Amino acid sequence: MIIAVSGLPADYERTLSHLAAQYVKDAEVQMDADSPIDGLKVRFTEKRRLDQVYVSATARAEGFEDTASFQKPVIEANMHSKVGKQTAAHVFVKLLTSWTGKTQPWGTLTGIRPTKLYHQMYRSGLSHSDIKKTLKDDYLISDEKIAMLERIVKRQLEVLPDLYEIKKGVSIYIGIPFCPTMCAYCTFPAYAINGKNGSVSEFLNGLYYEMEQTGAWLKEHNIPVTTIYFGGGTPTSIEAEEMDALYSQMHKVFPDLNQVREVTVEAGRPDTISAEKLAVLNKWNIDRISINPQSFHNETLRAIGRHHSVEETVDKYELAVRHGVDNINMDLIIGLPNEGVPEMKHNLSETKKLDPASLTVHTLSFKRASTMTKQKDKYNVAGPEEIQQMMDLTNQWTDENEYEPYYLYRQKNILGNLENVGYAKAGKESLYNMIIMEEVQTIIGLGCGAASKWVDPVSEKITRMANPKDPISYIERYEEYTHRKIDTLNELFRPITP
Ligand code: SF4
Repeated sequence: MIIAVSGLPADYERTLSHLAAQYVKDAEVQMDADSPIDGLKVRFTEKRRLDQVYVSATARAEGFEDTASFQKPVIEANMHSKVGKQTAAHVFVKLLTSWTGKTQPWGTLTGIRPTKLYHQMYRSGLSHSDIKKTLKDDYLISDEKIAMLERIVKRQLEVLPDLYEIKKGVSIYIGIPFCPTMCAYCTFPAYAINGKNGSVSEFLNGLYYEMEQTGAWLKEHNIPVTTIYFGGGTPTSIEAEEMDALYSQMHKVFPDLNQVREVTVEAGRPDTISAEKLAVLNKWNIDRISINPQSFHNETLRAIGRHHSVEETVDKYELAVRHGVDNINMDLIIGLPNEGVPEMKHNLSETKKLDPASLTVHTLSFKRASTMTKQKDKYNVAGPEEIQQMMDLTNQWTDENEYEPYYLYRQKNILGNLENVGYAKAGKESLYNMIIMEEVQTIIGLGCGAASKWVDPVSEKITRMANPKDPISYIERYEEYTHRKIDTLNELFRPITP
């Protein structure tokens, strides 16, 4: 379906395309196109004054015509373009709503971090009620989503009262790129152990080098580490002795582990967990692990290629509890193939029996490179209404079971245009998840596929750098990447001269 737009700068296309896709499947926005035979034509007028941007538009399609307008103040000089885009998005969403009869809960927001927008407004001095009014009137976000954002931001500030000041420290992400088998929805670096993509020991050699160099730099410059997160892949897919040596290296090379507030190890795949590995996690005082069911239906696990059973998830969870691990996160995914409301009810009631400290609820997204997306026709997934019902059910269930939402993010191509939400019992929130989501601190990425996110402690400008995703390229180039990181750290944390 073509949506022909005129009267706006060409660089608005991305935002408008993103919004249109939420209302009309396969929508194609064409800027300055001729009137389509079958589609919608939107003619915009944008007027920029010194302190205001005014946008109006008329939309026409067969049997439909409507007009909308909106005006926004420009607070900072040179912000006309950004404000213009937001104002046009507002008008566009109103017209799409009246044309399709659909409303979208996230209104004009196309970004993946709505809570970050809330934090920005809060830091600028707006009260919660002013922020909520802006989110509703300007961004056209639903009351329900606004209430969720407020709840999350307040929770984050309770759990991490220094959230806005931790930019002077860093967190560390360590990517272990191995998994027993590849899940159909996955796009993370996940390679077979000792397969043709490089051996674990060669990879660990490179990782040790990165850890050593980075740790030495942090010690020398007296930069504190707030959290450390082992992800992947599945960090528990390597042998117990390799894990033991890795955590020993962490203690040896990173500055003062006693001051690190949280160390997490994703043990996502239950088929990688053993009593021996749990003993290693305990030995090194790992604070938090994840054991991820994704679904409590064996047929679903088979369909998505997880190669473990529900019974194994339960057994390994109970084994971890018996080993004294008291902060276990579980991930569930809404909208997996052949799952609807009854299956979600079952997933939640089985989760309740285990009572994990935190629960992360993802909504399935069709990531471009995943097997599931490449073979989309093979999978039968629920429609947007049922996805919404599953999300509502989950929200109600988490409320009833004393889980509080504490972080949220959206993704492209996510079913029902919804979101992923982390819930936790009081005191069991993942600090790392909040830090990465709100982009308040530099995260140094070490290992395969690890993305470093640099947050300038003065300007708060964000830049990124990613390590090679596959083990062979990583093994060939880890020294070069390490030196690039050290150069960036030198630049970021340079002494400030008056
Ligand atoms: S366990 Fe996680 S990282 Fe590994 S293939 Fe599955 S989704 Fe990807």
